[in-house]
Amino acid sequence: MSFQIKKAAVLGAGVMGANIAAQLANAGIECLLLDIVPPELTEADKAKGLTKESPAWRNSFAMRGLEGATKARPASFYTKRNAALVKPGNFEDHLAWLAGVDLVIEAVIENLKIKQDLFARVEKVVKPHCIVATNTSGIRIGEISANLGKALKERFLGIHFFNPPRYMKLVEVIPGEETKKEVVEYVTRFCEDVLGKGVVVCKDVPNFIANRIGVYDMSNAMNLMLAKGMRVEDIDAIISAPLGRPRSAIFGTIDLVGLDTAYHVMTNLYEALPKDESRDLFIPPDFVKAMIQKKWLGNKTKGGFYKRVGKEKLMLDINTWEYVPTKPADFLSLEKAKVAKTLPEKMEAFFEGDDKAAKFVWEVNKGYLMYAAAKIPEVSDDILNIDRAMRWGYNHGAGPFEQW
Ligand code: NAD
Repeated sequence: MSFQIKKAAVLGAGVMGANIAAQLANAGIECLLLDIVPPELTEADKAKGLTKESPAWRNSFAMRGLEGATKARPASFYTKRNAALVKPGNFEDHLAWLAGVDLVIEAVIENLKIKQDLFARVEKVVKPHCIVATNTSGIRIGEISANLGKALKERFLGIHFFNPPRYMKLVEVIPGEETKKEVVEYVTRFCEDVLGKGVVVCKDVPNFIANRIGVYDMSNAMNLMLAKGMRVEDIDAIISAPLGRPRSAIFGTIDLVGLDTAYHVMTNLYEALPKDESRDLFIPPDFVKAMIQKKWLGNKTKGGFYKRVGKEKLMLDINTWEYVPTKPADFLSLEKAKVAKTLPEKMEAFFEGDDKAAKFVWEVNKGYLMYAAAKIPEVSDDILNIDRAMRWGYNHGAGPFEQW
């Protein structure tokens, strides 16, 4: 088999799909962006004179995704001109367009049945050399491709981008059992040389590498916050720059990712890992379930753990369910870590402290490092790939083994 990717399609125009399409367009690749036809006409649609036959309505989810990517800050497109390479459409009217593409990347909702049903339709249309991939956060490739024919399974794999796809270096490439070696090699080169990413090839295990360790870390931090009676803002103040982690920290990252996606990933992990020693941590806490019921999902619903009102940033108090003004965390160890220059000095500031933040860091990091070590060889045979996945996919200043 020989491959060349000149034209691609992304299925699903949500948080990830639209921005993956943008990154393909940034590399000069024409890209279709398809999504579902909306379930119903809204009053606003009717007021605009739209009917169920109007292309503007039928393509509206994909068009909204493209518009979002065009306006994203930091920018998803290198230049606005690249947006013209992305063509929106929908799964009902335009799936036949897939016959003309060399690569399909699926980025619909994290639900096995929905993904399987969509790929069954894709299989009927794509040409024999088209590479077909899923951007799943953690459902096994073997499960998603279970009902596909052998010919497609050989060209089927996971190409897992991190959010936001333009800026996060990591792409996890996950071969299924039957994926041809040359497909894995080609996709790896394509992601590195054409899309400018850093590839880690992963085993086909639930959540692969970065999200397996990263979701453990997030779940552990949430549970410790509850056990120690700390605030959302305390946790984020600690598990960010003072610990060599990104500013979005734990809860800001969940707001970026979407709490519904984080919830699906946690529950999928719980179901998929009956023997994992930390399995119970993957049961979403009650406050997460309550937020999902209220549809406080993060940036995509304009409010999650944080919410902007005018210029003010408010934090959710999970005890009173009110958004309250943010108030800086106040711990001596944190203050020392903030002014320390290097990561070892920052860690030392916490490890030598004796306050709530210091004790929290000891607990949270102990769990993180032990879990990463315990997952060898299950998720990876080598520590380098785990460190790379956490640095490139989660923006950590150092991977768990480097920290150790
Ligand atoms: P999202 O909720 O923003 O978008 C999901 C998309 O699926 C929407 O465009 C929606 O219209 C579509 N959809 C909804 N119901 C559907 C159905 N029945 N059939 C087909 N499509 C349907 O989600 P997202 O965050 O973009 O996640 C998409 C995929 O990417 C998921 O598999 C997720 O796990 C994965 N992922 C997400 C992130 C992240 O940070 N959000 C990162 C990496 C991978």
